[in-house]
Parts: sequence; C-alpha cells; structure tokens
Amino acid sequence: MFKRNRKPAPPLPQAAQIEHERLNSLINSMADAVIAVDESKKVVVYNAAALNVLDLNTIKPNTDVAKIIKPVTSDNHPVDIASLIETTTTPYTSRDLRLQYTDNSSISLYMSIAPVRLGYGTKGQGGHVLLLRDITREKSLEDERDEFISVISHELRTPIAIAEGNISNAQLIADRTEGIDPAIKQALGEAYNQVLFLAGMINDLSTLGRAEQGSLKLEIEAIDVKALVAELVSNYTPEAQKKGLEMKSEIIGEIGELHSSKLYVREVLQNFITNAIKYTSQGSVTLEASYSSQGIHFAVRDTGIGISKGDQDRVFDKFFRSEDYRTRQANGTGLGLYVTSKITRLLHAEITLESELNKGSTFSIFVPNLENHVPKPA
Ligand code: ADP
Repeated sequence: MFKRNRKPAPPLPQAAQIEHERLNSLINSMADAVIAVDESKKVVVYNAAALNVLDLNTIKPNTDVAKIIKPVTSDNHPVDIASLIETTTTPYTSRDLRLQYTDNSSISLYMSIAPVRLGYGTKGQGGHVLLLRDITREKSLEDERDEFISVISHELRTPIAIAEGNISNAQLIADRTEGIDPAIKQALGEAYNQVLFLAGMINDLSTLGRAEQGSLKLEIEAIDVKALVAELVSNYTPEAQKKGLEMKSEIIGEIGELHSSKLYVREVLQNFITNAIKYTSQGSVTLEASYSSQGIHFAVRDTGIGISKGDQDRVFDKFFRSEDYRTRQANGTGLGLYVTSKITRLLHAEITLESELNKGSTFSIFVPNLENHVPKPA
C-alpha cells in the first residue's frame, strides 16, 4: 500500500514512472513504518508497515500527522508530534517513546524524523520522513538486563568491600612480619589490584544502572577547582609513578569556584585519568583546568597509545574496547566512557576528544557553571 495524497500529478515521463514504481515497491517492502509529511505536517506517503504500527486500516488523504501519531514519553506525557517535526532540522531519533492504542494497550516505539525535500527536482516541496518501529520486545529485554545488572552490582558491593579490607590488612601484616616469603607479598599485591579492578567495575555498573533508570541526581555545590585538581593529582601520582609516568597539572586563568556536582565532575575526571595512565607506557599525564566566563574547561592529556580515527567515534559506546593489542593488555570493561557520557549529559557538559595513534590523547570536558540552575520537574 502506497499513496500520494496530493492533487493529481501530471503524468510522469516513462523513465520517471519506472523510477517512481521502483520507489513504491521499495518503500512497501520495508519492515519499518515509513511516513512522509509535507510542510503543513499532512501525510503524503506511507507504507503498509505504517498501518500495522499505527493499527489503522487506511490513512485518508491530507490527514494531519498529529491525528494518527500520538506518542507519549516513558512517564506518559503526550508528545506534540507536529512541533517536534517543525523543530527537526537535523535527523532526530528516540527509543524512549510509547504509542497507546484505543484498547489501552501500548508499544515501545523507535522513531526517527529526518527533514527531506519531497517531490521531484530542485523545486520539490520540503517535508519530513518519519520511521517508526515497534521495539517492545527489545525494550523489555533491555529492562530485564538493566534490572539484573543493578541487582548484581548491588549484591557484589559488600563482599568486594570486605575482601578489599581483608587483603589490605593481610598486606599490612605481611609487611610487618619478618622473614615472610616474598611470593606471598606479591600474591597479596596482585589479589589487591584485582579486587580494586572489580570494585571499579561494580561502581561503573551501578552508576550505569542508575543512569539508565534516569535516577542519577544532580546536587549542585560550589567546587574549589584548584583543590579538586590538586586532590586528583595527589591521588593518582603513585599509580602514575608506578608506571614511570609523570603526573602534572596546569591551571590556566583566574580559577575560583565552579557550581556543579563535585561527585560527578570528579568521577568523569577520574575516568579520564585512569584511562590516561592505563593506556600510556611512557611520558606524562596532565590534568588541565582553564577558566571561561561560562564554566571550566578540564582536559586530561596523555602521551600514550592514542586512538585511531575509526575508534574515536566508538569509545563512548557501551562495552566498546579498541581491538589494539595494547588496549587488551590492560584490564577494562568498556563501560567507563559510556558512564562518563551519561554523566556529562546530566552536568549539561560537553566532551571533546582529540587523539592521534601512537602520539597520545586529550579528553576534554567543558563543565558549565550551574549556579542559577533550576532542575526540571521529574
Ligand atoms: P575501558 O574499561 O576499556 O578502559 P572505557 O570506556 O574507559 O573502557 O574506554 C573505552 C576504550 O577507549 C578503551 O578500551 C580504549 O580502547 C579507549 N581509550 C579510552 N581512553 C583512552 C586513552 N587515554 N588512550 C587510548 N585509548 C583510550
């Protein structure tokens, strides 16, 4: 099923007619619902899958798109589709909408909206193409997985904290005991490092769980930026020195207080610094903070293995780890930067990455001053 609900078009030349039919059958063979609307948000083209997703028998000519697509947000707020389309100038996608049917059943909806020029030739009328897909099954699997991760990370916290404390005590006792076999100290050191890695991973999983459930809370406070930089440099200097790296800091401009979440700003910088140390075998790691009237620009610069152009787009993806053998030599889960990108959104901040393979990487985050920030109602 394929319709153009506009006034009858003049007959097309034969080649154009063939092309037109080809497009018709292509659009109708798509599993995703396709709906094209013109500048006044009236449906001009749709396919069979659109009728399925919207649970309609047909779509009458010149129907307003808002009459047939009435999505709601995950917390049941109606979405004004006409103004959403109106404001879409670059492609937009969402996986967090729902569509309710007249019998009160509902589906989880994937929706993408892209601006297009409809019609033929350069004078074709503008409009938008909407792609819709029922993702109820995927969503429910994702919800189950998130719930599982959240329960597991919660349950593992206590035993790991106890193991960490006990191994640390055993190390102290071993240090104080004379004539102890050095292999025991080495084994305890290795066990301690692995427990720390597990604790970090559990922490990432737990932040991730809360981020995906939208329950991360932003508590704004005045952050003494210089003190935060000094604290991080002092915390990570021993780890850097163990690898023969220099840990440096640079403060640029008159930096005073930054109003943001200290907890999350610190977590992002910690992620950048641990990565910088992990993926650098010689040279230095520098934490930089520079002042701007809108906020603070932090950067973590390393002289490490760098990230290829192809990987740079993917490092913030969930579970992504580079295939580079030097990455695989270090422990990692591929969650740190994903969690970081979630936190960044919460902070209204912006991340940039500059990197060159074998030369080093700079992960930067601009954290805006949220002194007069009014949180949106949940
Ligand atoms: P991981 O636990 O693997 O470190 P992250 O999400 O923190 O997970 O990072 C994802 C991937 O990005 C890493 O596996 C690595 O390939 C790459 N990466 C991150 N930071 C750096 C860096 N400073 N230098 C080189 N590669 C990096």
